[in-house]
Amino acid sequence: MRKNIVAANWKMNKNHPEAIELIQSIINSKIPAHTSTNQQVILATPYLYLREAVFLTQDFQHLYIAAQNCHHEAKGAYTGEISASQLASLGVTHVIIGHSERRMYFNETDEILLQKTQIALQNHLIPIFCCGEPLNIREANNHLEYIQAQLENTVFQLASEAFQKIIIAYEPIWAIGTGKTATVEQAQEVHEYIRTLISNQFGTDIAENTPILYGGSCNAQNASSLFAQKDIDGGLIGGASLIAKDFETIVLSTTHP
Ligand code: PEP
Repeated sequence: MRKNIVAANWKMNKNHPEAIELIQSIINSKIPAHTSTNQQVILATPYLYLREAVFLTQDFQHLYIAAQNCHHEAKGAYTGEISASQLASLGVTHVIIGHSERRMYFNETDEILLQKTQIALQNHLIPIFCCGEPLNIREANNHLEYIQAQLENTVFQLASEAFQKIIIAYEPIWAIGTGKTATVEQAQEVHEYIRTLISNQFGTDIAENTPILYGGSCNAQNASSLFAQKDIDGGLIGGASLIAKDFETIVLSTTHP
């Protein structure tokens, strides 16, 4: 049975007291009781708060802490950068890789993203690997081919033992932070397509067990209808994850397994 996952991407938001307050609100909400082996919650905080976030959540077995990025090299003279092994040494368990904001603003190429994925896995971090099309590609109805190429150039290069550890997030760029959510039909179409691609590449078992999250203006109002789709296994949540009550509603909206 594949896992159901809700991951919060805080991006570059919250100062230190605000971040601690949000973590405390999450811990004191209905979220921990809702979690289980197959029902996980992941908080991707800014780097600065990771150690404290790990410490504060250590008694909650199915509440995980993620980084929003890592460097693609193991170590060395990369001023200001953070390595996968440094993250792992803090007790961080997951890392977001390939977010469209990183691809767009930091010129992260497929080649770099594959390297990041590999170095994360070597350090026992679980990558939350993002893919998704910009508006012009969607409008030209080329989104499926676009996403296929993104996956073929990156995570489909992994051996199956490595691929089966990762989480995929489908995030249409036109829906991120815009308040314009994909319809359930649009999201389900792409999730089903991604699962078919995984099945063709790695086999049905791995495809059936790969969590595929939806991201893009997912909120307290639309989460339950998105998560009810058979190939949508939870969400990667930006803006709405910064509001404790909304994030709680989203987590409680997960319906399967
Ligand atoms: C994201 O950036 O991963 C995201 C899904 O953002 P939002 O929920 O704000 O659209």
